[in-house]
Amino acid sequence: MLRFIDTPRQTPEKRAAELRREDFEEVYSGFKERQAEAQASRCSQCGVPFCSSGCPLGNHIPDWLRLAAEDQLEEAWRLSESTSNMPEICGRICPQDRLCEGSCVIEQSGHGTVTIGAVEQYITDNAWSKGWIKPIAPARERPQSIGIIGAGPAGLSAADELRSLGYRITVYDRYDRAGGLMTYGIPGFKLEKSVVMRRVKRLADSGVTFVQNADIGGGVPFSDLREKHDAILIATGVYKARELSVPGVGANGVVRALDYLTASNRKGFGDEVPGFDEGHMNAHGKRVVVVGGGDTAMDCVRTAIRQDAASVTCLYRRDRENMPGSAREVVNAEEEGISFRWLSNPKLLLGDANKLDGIRVARMRLGPPDASGRQSPEEIPGEDADLAADMVIKALGFSPEDLPTAFDEPDLALTRYGTLKVDPSSYETSLPGVFAAGDIVRGASLVVWAIHDARRAAASIHQYFKGQTVGAIPETVG
Ligand code: FAD
Ligand code: SF4
Ligand code: SF4
Repeated sequence: MLRFIDTPRQTPEKRAAELRREDFEEVYSGFKERQAEAQASRCSQCGVPFCSSGCPLGNHIPDWLRLAAEDQLEEAWRLSESTSNMPEICGRICPQDRLCEGSCVIEQSGHGTVTIGAVEQYITDNAWSKGWIKPIAPARERPQSIGIIGAGPAGLSAADELRSLGYRITVYDRYDRAGGLMTYGIPGFKLEKSVVMRRVKRLADSGVTFVQNADIGGGVPFSDLREKHDAILIATGVYKARELSVPGVGANGVVRALDYLTASNRKGFGDEVPGFDEGHMNAHGKRVVVVGGGDTAMDCVRTAIRQDAASVTCLYRRDRENMPGSAREVVNAEEEGISFRWLSNPKLLLGDANKLDGIRVARMRLGPPDASGRQSPEEIPGEDADLAADMVIKALGFSPEDLPTAFDEPDLALTRYGTLKVDPSSYETSLPGVFAAGDIVRGASLVVWAIHDARRAAASIHQYFKGQTVGAIPETVG
């Protein structure tokens, strides 16, 4: 260990931009064995590991780095999976620069952070390839049945935790495939679908029942689930797209980010997607403008370039430094040929109801900080510009759907943001025996936080059945 002095930081190999533009395969190739060991050995084994404090799951990072460096990969994997239900997924898509790696002390001392995420991915990918990851075989079966609504990372992690404890689990999802945004939102070039599907299969092989195409509150009443199960976990995520409020938004050629990404991901699975095949959801040959500056916007621009768009431009109303998307993904997008127009805000969509011709863009500057301390963008009069566009993708974020109405449960309490109100230590909603986790509780967030919440909610459901007082839940449930 402590090799950071003589071993330079190395990230996994990144495929050349011109090659990766041609397909939806992952951009990074992952570490080879020796590389993972060498990179893990750079860790200085801090007595107080700030990296673990920066990780929402409190992962035992220095310990599994040491085991990986010593070629004890099975032990490293066992330790890694004791605090995370999908370490290989977090290793791929966590914004590590803002979490574990951003807190690494050797980064602070100028040596370049330990590549924690890539080693984490390597440890569990290796465990899969060695066949160490088996279906869950609980030590005892329990009679209680739990219904989980939503098969995203929160629902899947809770299913994993609760099935391991021996409960009978049914996961309902309104889509035809499980995985939530990991399946239909995040593109394959960040997270290949086979990586998600093997996690789903393991749960199915462990006795978890998946009921797909089940829209709870739509075709299937919520009350049916409450009658059928002894406890419920709501893990439905947030799906109401924020809209553009400029004239002309109804014009043909304006699409919502998630509809666009879902169509593309479905094509990747080989599905028939009429909207894509007819061209409405396909960027091929088009001049594409994406509005937004978060991870969703980055995924849209990079999908459009892979669909052979004629040009792709990202509009963001603040500057690069204030962009909410991961800095790494912005660099990747630039390498792939996307142009960014910072400090630019859409003002008007040009064209008629049948054909979009372009978008008028106001030039912005950053004004004084608002109540949150962030500088608010304000328009510079007289500096509008018109950009030609055949397709505009709205990637302005998501808010929660109205679950009390959909579920016909007016007593299901909400926060002022429309997310579900839960007891912060038990994750129980205002309805007894109904718990919630993931984006539907914290608003649009990250996979790692969905896992965090799900583990705590699962521990709480276990306490609920044991009839114990639900008190402080351990930060990680090993
Ligand atoms: P979801 O993943 O949204 O899953 C919810 C599930 O519930 C869905 O399958 C949905 O079909 C189902 N559902 C909803 N309502 C019902 C209902 N009424 N009945 C039945 N089923 C229902 N995070 C990262 O950490 N890294 C990234 O790189 C990243 N990139 C992202 C890119 C995009 C385009 C988007 C949109 C998000 C991204 N995120 C990323 C965020 C991350 O995907 C979410 O924070 C995470 O998936 C939330 O997990 P969840 O389980 O709460 O919800
Ligand atoms: Fe880092 Fe995410 Fe892994 Fe935690 S889960 S160690 S934040 S990559
Ligand atoms: Fe190792 Fe960095 Fe964590 Fe210290 S902060 S234990 S050097 S990974």
